[in-house]
Formats: sequence, structure tokens, C-alpha cells
Amino acid sequence: MGKGKAVGGKLIAGNWKMNGLRGDGVALATAVAEWARHPVAGRSGVVAELVICPPATLLTAVGDAIAGSPVALGAQDCHPASKGAHTGDIAAPMLADLGCRYVIVGHSERRQNHREDNGLVAAKARAAHTAGLIAIVCVGETEAERDRGEALTVVGSQLEGSLPEGASAANTVIAYEPVWAIGTGRVPKPGDIAEIHDFIRRRATNRMTEGANTRLLYGGSVKAENAAELLAIDHVDGALVGGASLDAGSFTAIAAAG
Ligand code: PEP
Repeated sequence: MGKGKAVGGKLIAGNWKMNGLRGDGVALATAVAEWARHPVAGRSGVVAELVICPPATLLTAVGDAIAGSPVALGAQDCHPASKGAHTGDIAAPMLADLGCRYVIVGHSERRQNHREDNGLVAAKARAAHTAGLIAIVCVGETEAERDRGEALTVVGSQLEGSLPEGASAANTVIAYEPVWAIGTGRVPKPGDIAEIHDFIRRRATNRMTEGANTRLLYGGSVKAENAAELLAIDHVDGALVGGASLDAGSFTAIAAAG
């Protein structure tokens, strides 16, 4: 077993992105919850913690489907303000009110498609904390940045700018998601993931309360087939899973691989 945070099983979070209507979303969440009621422990001998982050339209239906199971509910984004004139946006207290425990902030698709910068991501994470939510703060370099040898610099400045004051192991999870690995089937070499996770661990330890225990997730083309290898890397405390979280068998196989 690799080095990681001091206690607990792997955290496996499924990001459904903009996928799912009520019928298939509820069926998928029900199947995951059913597995979680009789889980298979990972290689570490500890059962993984599961989180489902459906689109906002399905938060209530999925929350109902997983109620009473060990699966936690998460959202994919929140607004930095707690309420107000922000048409189409969703505030963190609204997510908490629906039963969310987690919210993803700073996913690369939001950084790229919505031009979200580190300052905005930090404000969203702060809003999540104020609402009592655990922020899953995403960082990761593009392929061009990696090719230029800038991966550590980019991830370092994203961490510096995106983690708000008050971030701690209790209220923040960090997800390292190299942009070029998301949805592509390409995965960094284990040694490259280990180097970045070790770097993130050191930064988190310096900058966050209980940073040595902050859960660090790897994300980017995690599948049932590669999960055991990825989850065994030092300081990989879990996975943020996109495409493979849309299939209950694949998602739970990833959970069982840790
Ligand atoms: C993601 O978008 O967070 C992600 C990791 O996607 P995928 O697993 O499909 O690469």
C-alpha cells in the first residue's frame, strides 16, 4: 500500500458532468447505493467512501435514491455568493439544503469553458466552507504546460490561488486532474502522478490546517482496469471519476480496487 493520508479508505467521487435524465440517473444512483450497502473492501482492507456528483437537475432525485446508504451527495459547482441576483447560478447554501456534502470547484471544464480563474475558485471554495460543504478543489496542467516542463509550477500557482484562508483537511479535498488526461483514455506515468501528489502533499501541509491529512484525489481517465495501479500510488487517497462513473459496475469496481 502506498503512502497517503493517515486514516480512512479511499475516496471515490463520480462526476457525472452534464449527463443523465431522471430515469437513468435514479437507476444508476440506486445501483451504486445498493453496492455500497454491501461493499467489497479495497486492497487496503478498508471500504472506500463514495460520492456521486450528478447535474444540479438530479440532486434531489439522486439524493432520494441514495438516502440511508453510505453514498454521499455532491454538486459540480457553486456560486461564490450565498444568494442574490445571479440568474441560473446555484449558491452553496442551496446545495447544503438539498443534502449535499461535497461540491466540486475549479474543474478544468469550468476553468476553460467559463474562464474561471484561481481567485474565483477560491471564492467558491470559501462559499462552500461557509455553507458547511467539503470543497473538492481541482487543479491540473494542460498538455502544452507539461511539455514545457511547467506542470509543477502551474499546479503550485493553482494551489496558491485556489485554496482559501481556512482550508483544512476537514473541509477541502484536492483533486489533481491533468487536463490532457480527462476523457482521453490517456493517463500520466505512475511516477509523474507520484511526483505531483508528493508536491501537492507538501504544499497542503505548509498551507492548510491538518494539510498532511488532506485527501488528494487523482482524476483523468480512471477506469476499472487501471484503478488498482493508480490508487496504489503514494499520496493518492482516491479518485475523481468522470466517464466511468456513468456505469455502476465500472464505478464500484474502481471503489473495490483501492
Ligand atoms: C473529470 O472530468 O473529472 C474526469 C476525471 O473525467 P474522466 O474520468 O472521464 O477522464
